[in-house]
Amino acid sequence: GEALAVSARVAPLGSRLVLLLVEDLTEARRIEAVRRDFVANVSHELKTPVGALSLLSEAVMDASDDPEAVERFAGRMQIEATRLTSLVQELIDLSRVQNDDPLEDAEPVRVDELVAEAIDRCRHQAGAKQITMASNVWAPEGPDQGGGGRRAGGTADLRVWGNRGQLAAALGNLVENAVNYSPARTRVGIAARSVSAAGGDHIEIAVTDQGIGISDKDKERIFERFYRVDPARSRATGGTGLGLAIVKHVAASHGGEVTVWSAEGQGSTFTLRLPEAGAARGARQQPARET
Ligand code: ADP
Repeated sequence: GEALAVSARVAPLGSRLVLLLVEDLTEARRIEAVRRDFVANVSHELKTPVGALSLLSEAVMDASDDPEAVERFAGRMQIEATRLTSLVQELIDLSRVQNDDPLEDAEPVRVDELVAEAIDRCRHQAGAKQITMASNVWAPEGPDQGGGGRRAGGTADLRVWGNRGQLAAALGNLVENAVNYSPARTRVGIAARSVSAAGGDHIEIAVTDQGIGISDKDKERIFERFYRVDPARSRATGGTGLGLAIVKHVAASHGGEVTVWSAEGQGSTFTLRLPEAGAARGARQQPARET
């Protein structure tokens, strides 16, 4: 409102510069508000486990003559300490993906390796819930192949261009969420394929679950830092509310994007679109041209 009033006054003067300056100030104020919110959120998130630890340590001292109670309290202290550790680790990851230029040490990264790593990271949680994990890395379509485009044994040449650690963290978060927000005995699928587009070739990695799904209203907000549809459920699975913010940052800084499709009660598909490693593509197309 303020900006509009000012711009209405300066517009007749034809001073576009002043108008831009006002818009700039509004943007600066918005960024400042986001920063303040973030600090408040971090403080709140840290306070919860620290407060619990403090209460629990008192309880342990009071219960020193009851070994069973001590053991119970100690177990809960361990859970809170683990939560604190993962929150701090995710904060470090987030600041790293926000501050580092991931393309500074970019390299061609094999998609089948990223997928295997992400599955490995969740194997324990998935096993406990009897969730089946299946992956399908589609070999790229050669220019003369047409039809199905599936090429046997060619998964090694499906590569994305980027920072290996960041890409692994992004995909790992998506697979972890798929497992966390799904009921027992369901299936999580990871499918990767190469897509040709006018703006350059891309790799699409889709993570599909048969979980609780996400409402349209929440879909717009889940990529925000600390936003959780159901905070209690997220905490119960060790969630911090930072995972998807990290994924979004990694995708954007690699020149890609992350999108979500979901139906409540049916499941979700998160698709990570990333630039394909150019060198790999060139090498792969060589034999196709010779034949
Ligand atoms: P968290 O640490 O809470 O998982 P994320 O940033 O990874 O934080 O996700 C934000 C929120 O988005 C989650 O708390 C959850 O409510 C929702 N969400 C993320 N992935 C899924 C999914 N695959 N199915 C349903 N809900 C999801």
